[in-house]
Amino acid sequence: MQSAVCPGSFDPLHNGHVEIIARASNLFDEVIVAVSPNMHKAPMFSVEERMEMAQETFSYVRGVTVKPLGEGLLTEFCRAHGANAVVKGLRDARDLAYETPMATMNRHLSGLETVYLPADGRYTHLSSTLIKEVHRLGGDVSEHVPRAVQRRLADRRHES
Ligand code: ADP
Repeated sequence: MQSAVCPGSFDPLHNGHVEIIARASNLFDEVIVAVSPNMHKAPMFSVEERMEMAQETFSYVRGVTVKPLGEGLLTEFCRAHGANAVVKGLRDARDLAYETPMATMNRHLSGLETVYLPADGRYTHLSSTLIKEVHRLGGDVSEHVPRAVQRRLADRRHES
């Protein structure tokens, strides 16, 4: 069985992520969405909330599960879960330049391969940072995020 991990902070999950994970699930028997704590940025949603939104979104997609990545090495997480590959979506040349040193390091550390999927043109402008910024300023981002995220964002707006 071929398993892959799609790691990220998913703060929050948007349609660019969803499309890459769905495509990964067509290539691998099992895809683990690994939600990282987002150590460098103050997250909008807790790891538990981000996992719940991903679980709700992928509940109907065969072979996709959601797990916390924790704070250790990605290679160790993949070894512990029997995953042979990491799948990353690439929006542009900057993503390639950012991802490639990590991909090469992971291969040197444990032989773990990284598979790049080119982002679909409909989603290349999407980032979680932009989604949060537009939402914070009162804009409607609902067409760019799955239903589970739309609901959480609306709840946050009503709370504030
Ligand atoms: P990080 O927390 O590593 O900054 P994100 O949680 O924003 O990353 O995204 C996780 C992964 O999803 C990225 O490493 C990238 O592979 C992919 N990704 C992010 N945005 C897009 C997009 N718009 N289209 C396709 N893939 C994307």
